Amino acid sequence: MSRYDDVVMWFRRDLRAYDHAALSLALRCARRVHCVFVFDTEILDALVARADRRVEFIWSSVRELKLALERIGGGLHVLHGRARDAIPHIAARLSAGAVFANRDYEPAARARDEAVGSRLLADGRTLHLFKDQVIFDPDEILTTQGTPFTVFAPYRRAWLARIAPAYLRSWPVERHRDALAPAPESRMPTLEDLGFVPTDLGRLGLPAGTSGARVLFDEFLARIDAYQQRRDYPALHGPSYLSVHLRFGTASIRELVRAAWSHDSDGARAWLVELIWREFYFAILHHFPYVSERAFQPRREALRFPNPPGHFAAWCEARTGYPIVDAAMRQINQTGYMHNRLRMIAASFLVKDLHVDWRLGERYFAARLNDFDLAANNGNWQWVASTGCDAQPYFRILNPVLQSKKFDPEGEFIRRYLPELARVPAEYIHEPWMMPRDVQHTAGCLVGKDYPAPLVDHSHARQRTLEIYGMAREHRSVSQDIQTP
Ligand code: FAD
Repeated sequence: MSRYDDVVMWFRRDLRAYDHAALSLALRCARRVHCVFVFDTEILDALVARADRRVEFIWSSVRELKLALERIGGGLHVLHGRARDAIPHIAARLSAGAVFANRDYEPAARARDEAVGSRLLADGRTLHLFKDQVIFDPDEILTTQGTPFTVFAPYRRAWLARIAPAYLRSWPVERHRDALAPAPESRMPTLEDLGFVPTDLGRLGLPAGTSGARVLFDEFLARIDAYQQRRDYPALHGPSYLSVHLRFGTASIRELVRAAWSHDSDGARAWLVELIWREFYFAILHHFPYVSERAFQPRREALRFPNPPGHFAAWCEARTGYPIVDAAMRQINQTGYMHNRLRMIAASFLVKDLHVDWRLGERYFAARLNDFDLAANNGNWQWVASTGCDAQPYFRILNPVLQSKKFDPEGEFIRRYLPELARVPAEYIHEPWMMPRDVQHTAGCLVGKDYPAPLVDHSHARQRTLEIYGMAREHRSVSQDIQTP
């Protein structure tokens, strides 16, 4: 790569000043590196709520990034506008020969990068993109025929066969800090300047920035060995809660994978598999970008979901009468997070018990999840709806009562989010409609008044799903032994 006098380092979903591919390479290739972040109005203007935890998370993380860069002699230009215009404009203003950034796999981001790249090229500048948010780019893990994997298990095997220390090495930043250019005139806009208001992020205990990721990661490392045993129980502190940090790059994927790889335990191995699922879905979105609009399996496009009136609203508003589903929906509505097991149960319930089009659920999660990521969200919704690659078979319909009994046996999680069921005895907590009337009175919870009666009957709904998917006959002949994400 040629040596430049000045380059722009464009931060996007990689908000850290350590172990950073594009920044590290920029510092080695240029005499002066001008760091830039753009609060992109094309993204922000599309958000419905003016109180959005993700915007506040990014804003806090950018503020921390700016301080981190200043501490090592650099600076951060924080802009507010259309990135498509702002980046070519600042590159011209700073006489930068090139713009460095890390690759993004989402279709909209790719379109933006192509537009920015063309604008830069027209001015005689280059956009250089690097692999940073994954261990392997989508084209690095392919079948022996050179085609993308569409089944997870062989993808995982190929990924694990390829992994080597070289892929996990940190990209040094501080060592090359002399090339960092300060940005003394740049001021950090307030949330209000961006058109947003503060949220409950602080109260929720979701720490932003690399400092927040460090706290969560250190805390998780102390219990990573127990991940496998605890991960499926929403009442327990089982998973890492790092998804939002992976989303915005306040954690380095190389550091996480190194830690998982160096722990010799079932827990660490299981956690590594989750990080591989993340890359699998990036690869699917990259190779099959149409999934963001349509079913991965073309024949599933013919599915017609009845969308019965009131079902979608009842699901969104936690009024289905199935406590595990309603508690899950309260969790996402109140905190922007939902435990992975509950995401599977709630999504399955929407599609296969309430017969609502999975795309509505996908959009609802996209609007509410702090960790919303198009690749993971779409891949998992299509998995649950049996429309995706390597999806669960359409006849595998999670039974919300059995799932509840298995993964929240005492109803501890349910009671946390549904205080109206706090005094319901454990034997009825998963199906309160079975409670005798006198027990309902003692528990202070009358079904149909204090808590809704079930919206549907699971066994009828299940039968209807088999009809909708139109293949009830295959049901008995196919193995149910499949791997969950
Ligand atoms: P951990 O269990 O600690 O896992 C570590 C990391 O691995 C996660 O942070 C995440 O980056 C990755 N990961 C874990 N499970 C999956 C998975 N099934 N698919 C892809 N990556 C995974 N994850 C998102 O990051 N964004 C989403 O928008 C999203 N939407 C989902 C929608 C549905 C219907 C389902 C079933 C799952 C979805 N997931 C999504 C995957 C998973 O639920 C979350 O990544 C996980 O719950 C985040 O919590 P954690 O960081 O504590 O996870």
